[in-house]
Amino acid sequence: MGTFDAIVVGAGPAGSTTARELAASGARVLVVDRAEWPRYKACGGGVPLRAERMLPFPIDSVVEDSVSRIEMSARGKMAFTKRSRGPFARMVMRDRFDMLLLEHAQHAGAELRTGTVVRDLDLNGRVRIRADGFEAEAETLICADGAHSPVGRMAGLGGDLAECAAWEVEVRGRPRDASVEEATTLIDLGYDPWGYAWLFPKAKLLSIGIVLPREEAGRMKALVERYLERLGLRDAEVEIARGHKIRFRRGGETLAGERVALAGDSAGLADEFTAEGISYAIHSGRLAARAALRALAGEGDLRSYQDELEDEIQPELDAARAIAYMFYGMLKRARRPWMLASEYTPFLWSSLFAVQRGESSYAREAKRAGPLTAVANARLRRRDQQQSH
Ligand SMILES: Cc1cc2nc3c(=O)[nH]c(=O)nc-3n(C[C@H](O)[C@H](O)[C@H](O)COP(=O)(O)OP(=O)(O)OC[C@H]3O[C@@H](n4cnc5c(N)ncnc54)[C@H](O)[C@@H]3O)c2cc1C
Repeated sequence: MGTFDAIVVGAGPAGSTTARELAASGARVLVVDRAEWPRYKACGGGVPLRAERMLPFPIDSVVEDSVSRIEMSARGKMAFTKRSRGPFARMVMRDRFDMLLLEHAQHAGAELRTGTVVRDLDLNGRVRIRADGFEAEAETLICADGAHSPVGRMAGLGGDLAECAAWEVEVRGRPRDASVEEATTLIDLGYDPWGYAWLFPKAKLLSIGIVLPREEAGRMKALVERYLERLGLRDAEVEIARGHKIRFRRGGETLAGERVALAGDSAGLADEFTAEGISYAIHSGRLAARAALRALAGEGDLRSYQDELEDEIQPELDAARAIAYMFYGMLKRARRPWMLASEYTPFLWSSLFAVQRGESSYAREAKRAGPLTAVANARLRRRDQQQSH
């Protein structure tokens, strides 16, 4: 049986960041992933600049495009374009991006086992895992096993997180409107009760998808078909089409025990305004590694990870949820006036771009909208209470 200081299950951005930071500090780390790598991950592949800034190495080798323009529309109508001063996101294909992050973990000294599923967990004493073909034990376990989080569930962590559904197609082609060909992301709003479709440009492909509430999952494929049609891409070659859920932590759920912690999507660390999760995966991976290093040094246990997460990440998720409530709520009630108001409210876009570039935060921007945010939070609290009864 292999013996390690830490086992990390899942080699996506959360797991590889945890593993890299642990290994770089001298810990013996094993990373286990059920997929053969590089692996496809259903994802728009929009890496906000704030995520890139958290990495201590360049990602240029896997960047397919950098975007500083965004074109908004509502079911193909009322389109307008906004520009950030400088790029606000990098466009990547997740197989290459995630492989780069994992290679850095390996270079730091992490051992890797891919193509093997973790099947069982024993938390009596040291942590033991049983995977296909081998067993291993360690002082600590980080579950970075994605939105379904089978291993996190075995550890009894995560609980009933809120979730939504997303559908992604990778398409070979170019949209009809040549003006959007270069470095522009398209966001199409106006889906009921909330959600949006996107087009993210890549070097050879276009990543096109939709995110909707879980109850609307059955409509995703048809809505993406219609979106493709509107973009003049009905006959374009679809290379991959895949759905996946995205989970949202709204506070309260236990994410860490003495020796085990959840990071990234397994902990529901995606925000409810844009449904993006890569920056939170990297951020939580760093926090998890720090807590594991403290535990290995005999300073407390992994529960301190949850405290740090409540301080550093949860306020962002809460603020993004309040912003989503206001933004999508206005859109639902008054689509046309709200699209017009959005177009002529520069503050909205400068705020969004500043958050994406890592120069501001949702928490800070929500605070600036003080009374509105307070009303949104009060209504969300009431809704949560009603749902919990
Ligand atoms: C359609 C879609 C579009 C998205 N677009 C964006 C976007 O543009 N920008 C953005 O920031 N976010 C986006 N997201 C969210 C983003 O993909 C996630 O937040 C991010 O991948 C989380 O990283 P992670 O490391 O936590 O999990 P993942 O990247 O999901 O990695 C989890 C890993 O765990 C492994 N695993 C699972 N179970 C086991 C097991 N039992 N044993 C061993 N290994 C296991 C899996 O193979 C996988 O490699 C999107 C999500 C979806 C579904």
